Amino acid sequence: AKVLVTGANGYLAVWVVKKYLEAGYAVRGTVRSLTKNAFLKDRFAHYGDRFELVVVEDITKDGAFDEAVKGVDAIAHTASPFHYKATDPDELIIPAVRGTTSILNSTLKHGSAVKRLVLTSSVAAVREEATTPRVFNETTWNNSAMEAVKTKGSTVGPVTIYLASKTLAEKAAWDFVATHKSEISWDLVVINPPYVFGPSLSPAPTVDDINTSQREVYDTLSGARTSAQLRNQGNWVHVAVAAEAHVRATHVAAAGGERIIVTSGPFFYQDLLDAAAELGIPNVPRGEPGSTKDIPIIINLETNKARELLGLTSETPLKDLVEESVKDFKERGYPG
Ligand code: NDP
Repeated sequence: AKVLVTGANGYLAVWVVKKYLEAGYAVRGTVRSLTKNAFLKDRFAHYGDRFELVVVEDITKDGAFDEAVKGVDAIAHTASPFHYKATDPDELIIPAVRGTTSILNSTLKHGSAVKRLVLTSSVAAVREEATTPRVFNETTWNNSAMEAVKTKGSTVGPVTIYLASKTLAEKAAWDFVATHKSEISWDLVVINPPYVFGPSLSPAPTVDDINTSQREVYDTLSGARTSAQLRNQGNWVHVAVAAEAHVRATHVAAAGGERIIVTSGPFFYQDLLDAAAELGIPNVPRGEPGSTKDIPIIINLETNKARELLGLTSETPLKDLVEESVKDFKERGYPG
């Protein structure tokens, strides 16, 4: 079977491509520029013509994916901007939402062989703002981010803009499927990961080139966090697990029509430093060990669906993540 992976050069996407190829799929990846992404051809050269790249310059254009979807059996739509630098909500919301509707429209018109479309959404689309402990599962939506952007516009800040972009994009996908139910021969599976951490397979020659989530890990280990920031918390999933989830979501029949949270669990930023200390990694600050022990976990994510539908049970130890990440940063020659 052949799968189309959009934004194939992205941090998560390169892992997704790798997992598909390892699972025996042929992969057609889309990129905005072939010259900038020549590394992909080299990395997957040993798969011969099982791996190909096509250019989709502007994912927001109507018909952008009309050619790319022809002849593929499945699609993984991962391309979407992820950064905390937007000042105008449209900067992220337009490519996130139109990129999604554009691939859905192209699939409707030209994807006659497509059986399944996997969308990379996010826990950003699931969890709302919370100050006291809450449990979230696939039935919840991040209404607060959408509402904030609607009422406050660009003053909401770049993080909320990102959260809203993912929520609106995922909503648009489910709306599309509901509207075109009688015309489509494929179904939708949505993967909702929290922060994706782990070594990058992309070139990222300088620290400023690494993607937003792995930058969180780098900044923490390199000592760029205040005490207050080290007490902050989040949820994370190993990049290899997030990628594997896409592959399983492509072939597990029962996953059709589901949103699926895929997580390795919650973390405090301090935990990354504790893990580094335990591993005896030199030059990593200690932070304030023990400072988070009385802080409750605010965002608790249910994992039943990932386990039951996709058979994803492994909770990667944070220690392994830190070890792999430090090795990756060192090999890249990043300072610190
Ligand atoms: P990257 O920044 O590494 O990759 C983003 C990909 O999307 C790149 O291929 C990029 O292309 C493409 N892209 C971004 N903006 C546009 C645009 N305007 N037009 C066309 N293509 C665009 O991000 P990640 O790998 O971290 O994220 C991949 C996906 O996973 C996204 O959908 C993200 O929301 C989601 N996700 C990521 C998480 C994480 O922690 N990393 C957590 C949860 C979800 P180019 O290189 O040409 O800019």
